[in-house]
Amino acid sequence: MILTPEFIFRNVEAIHPDFLARQGIKALVLDVDNTLTGDGSQMLDESVKAWLQQMREAGISLTVVSNNTAKRVRPFAERIGLEWVSLACKPLPIGLMVARHRLGVTKSQMAMVGDQIYTDRMAAGLYGIPCLFLLPRTPHDKARGVQIKRKFEPHWVQKYFRKGGKLYE
Ligand SMILES: [Mg+2]
Repeated sequence: MILTPEFIFRNVEAIHPDFLARQGIKALVLDVDNTLTGDGSQMLDESVKAWLQQMREAGISLTVVSNNTAKRVRPFAERIGLEWVSLACKPLPIGLMVARHRLGVTKSQMAMVGDQIYTDRMAAGLYGIPCLFLLPRTPHDKARGVQIKRKFEPHWVQKYFRKGGKLYE
């Protein structure tokens, strides 16, 4: 099923290079809002900064794919030194196609990292790549559309735990 997460992490910092090595993942496509920072925020937590450095040292390629506007995504992506795609229309896999081209990897070598079932998890499922699903970084979402979609997420998260899935932290 393309909506039940395959993996759930407490936050982005809980994704470790040894996990990625075991899964054969060499590249990550990163969401921004409530994944790398809060919704609409330009704040970069020291722990996220350190995590990005850890990924680079492990040879993991990184790129940003967000549904948000260029005005919001660009300053954050440039600050962390990553290329970016804005208005990606996730769950449509267009942004992931651009990202894969950019990263130069096969589908099995890349994963989507994000906090929303109906955008990040679904886009990964439609494109045929794994999703490293995260619990949202903050409980706040500005967009009304996101607030509505949030109400339907617990079903899929609970399904993951019922099937014996663990929380990576
Ligand atoms: Mg998000």
